[in-house]
Amino acid sequence: MMQEVVFPSGKVEYYFGCKAGELLRGKANTVFVTDENVMGLHADFFAGERVIVVPAGEDSKSVAEVENICQKLVEMEATRETLLVGVGGGVVTDIAGFVAAVYMRGIDCVFVPTTLLAMIDASIGGKNGVNLGLHKNMTGTIRQPQAIYFDISFLQTLPDEEWSNGFAEVIKYACIFDRALFEKLEKRDTTHFITSRTALKSLVQRCVDWKNKTVVNDEKETGERKLLNFGHTTGHAIETLYHLSHGQAVAVGMVIAAYLGEQQGISKEQVSSRLATLLTRYGLPTTTQYKTQELMSLLRTDKKRSGDDIQYILLEEIGRGIIKRLPFATIEEVLSEYESNY
Ligand code: ADP
Ligand code: ZN
Repeated sequence: MMQEVVFPSGKVEYYFGCKAGELLRGKANTVFVTDENVMGLHADFFAGERVIVVPAGEDSKSVAEVENICQKLVEMEATRETLLVGVGGGVVTDIAGFVAAVYMRGIDCVFVPTTLLAMIDASIGGKNGVNLGLHKNMTGTIRQPQAIYFDISFLQTLPDEEWSNGFAEVIKYACIFDRALFEKLEKRDTTHFITSRTALKSLVQRCVDWKNKTVVNDEKETGERKLLNFGHTTGHAIETLYHLSHGQAVAVGMVIAAYLGEQQGISKEQVSSRLATLLTRYGLPTTTQYKTQELMSLLRTDKKRSGDDIQYILLEEIGRGIIKRLPFATIEEVLSEYESNY
């Protein structure tokens, strides 16, 4: 099933329930980009194709790796007509999107997301980028791929931790937009979605719809797209400093944000404890050891800061996120209180 989504910066074709190999393999002008793990687990997919393989992991999201890939494209004599196909998790789709934006001032690219997280979040919305040292996604562009291929058969090889990473973002959508989804998740667990193809497909579709809708309305992130940062402001800092996975860090970040909303009198109901229970159900942490001062110094360099304030996403209730400008001093206070309580 093909669905066309029209973003301000371009149209994207979404192929749901597809067999990506049948649609993408065997074409002369195509170069695939993937990482070592995906290459190892899905070698058949790449057999006979031109492939650039990067090391697995966040460290590949660097300007140096972008240069490497561009260099390889030159060696392969890739032209403006070359289609770059990013096959992998968010790391791969992010670098592939970035490379496609800059190689010869821009070539076409498509994505085959192979993690739950990449399917429902990272591959959608046109943001791509690489890190600059400790600063996540500090360089990048907003540029839509031509198409995204959703082939859930790739998920059969996904390790438990990567399922949890994806579920952190699923739970994020539920928190900020979709109370009914939150309640559904409370009744189910990871095994249900791993074992039922129908349940998984509809979960992916529902989350993709939320992300599309948000980005269509606000591609440049001047308003409602910011809601998608729920859990990510502190989450990114935790991820960088304490080497948790993205999903784990965002899970902790979401609980902190929910708690912050309660402390600020924004939340109309108890949200943090209910959220913590759900995260635990999906194999995610709800707290970690951190140092408030370390987090604060990273938060002060966040892209979302302005002066002494930072935009923070809080929950009015489960299913409704809200953007609030908060002074750093308030966040520092709540973080150190949280730090000493847990
Ligand atoms: P993200 O979580 O943003 O998608 P990555 O691109 O780093 O981040 O992917 C997470 C990890 O999962 C990486 O180690 C990657 O190699 C691995 N991976 C990606 N797709 C699959 C898959 N289908 N099966 C098993 N491992 C995968
Ligand atoms: Zn995220």
